[in-house]
Amino acid sequence: MSSTHHRAQRVRRRLEGVDALLVSDLTNVRWLTGFTGSNGWLVLAPDELVLVTDGRYGEQAAGEMAAAGVEGRVAVGLTGAATLDHITAECARFARLGFEAAHVSYQQYTAYQQALSAQLVPLTGVVESERRTKDEAEIELMARACSVADSALAEVAPRLGDGLTEAQARNLLEIRMRELGASGPSYETIVASGPVNAALPHHRPTDTLIESGHTVIVDVGALVGGYHSDMTRSFVVGEPSALQRELYDVVLHPQRAGLAAVQPGIRASDLDAVCRDVIAAAGYGEWFTHGTGHGVGLLIHEDPYVNRAAELTLQVGDVVTVEPGAYRGGFGGFRVEDLVVVTTDGCRVLTNSPKDSPCLPSPPTN
Ligand code: ZN
Ligand code: ZN
Repeated sequence: MSSTHHRAQRVRRRLEGVDALLVSDLTNVRWLTGFTGSNGWLVLAPDELVLVTDGRYGEQAAGEMAAAGVEGRVAVGLTGAATLDHITAECARFARLGFEAAHVSYQQYTAYQQALSAQLVPLTGVVESERRTKDEAEIELMARACSVADSALAEVAPRLGDGLTEAQARNLLEIRMRELGASGPSYETIVASGPVNAALPHHRPTDTLIESGHTVIVDVGALVGGYHSDMTRSFVVGEPSALQRELYDVVLHPQRAGLAAVQPGIRASDLDAVCRDVIAAAGYGEWFTHGTGHGVGLLIHEDPYVNRAAELTLQVGDVVTVEPGAYRGGFGGFRVEDLVVVTTDGCRVLTNSPKDSPCLPSPPTN
């Protein structure tokens, strides 16, 4: 039995000053009900859950809620207007209705205002503040996703020097992840090579040939049961130069320092500073051009973000990346990224691909 059925109660405990919450963000709806369709609203009332959707999804919604162990009703509207009528009817008994301010368009808001009798109260991050804390079932799915990406990379990394293009390497990784049980890649796999492309943290793979002497950044994750994984490893094709070895360590050391610093109670901005300060002390502060990490779950990027401006404090059950990098046009770049779950005494690292050396690994022996 999943723990999905506890989630609505966790959110209810956070509701203040409203009689119910209208959940319109589909990721939040999925987290609360198990529903995976592309159109749905959840009326989260004190005493029940009502999922409003359209005719494509009525049966699916009922089935997915039952499979998740969630008790609730499904109301089906065959048109947009009929769907809104259902929402209006389900919310008629509430004087004050919370809605997700970050996930409602102006057009939707105007329609709610005209249709609903309740006073609309904008709320931000209510479901997200519970969703960030992963339970055992969610962590298990993410660990499986990480393991799939680890296996795919172990097979493909040894071949990066075999005359592949970036796009070919990406294709091999993504095919292998599906064969290993992923429903797909977690995001568009990044393979960035050479002095130009590897200098871009989020380069899209091209037909550029991966050549000897080049740095290569591979950022790869798998999707398992709706949950994402996220990992980056960096390589040098052939024998690394002295500068390449130096820069690899400039990235690896703060990444290890960051992992060691992850624990409940650390401010996300302080974790960012741990990595940033080590790189700055090595003289390469300007080469680190992005935040240290982000939360991962049903979305590839979610709370808690780990950057200079991050205000959240890490807590047990957060799943976050630690991913410092260094990039410079003409040189290329390196990034090392692991995905970890925060535990009572530190963290558990979910990604397990080797990272000690930038040299291409040997093929796995079975
Ligand atoms: Zn990544
Ligand atoms: Zn990431």
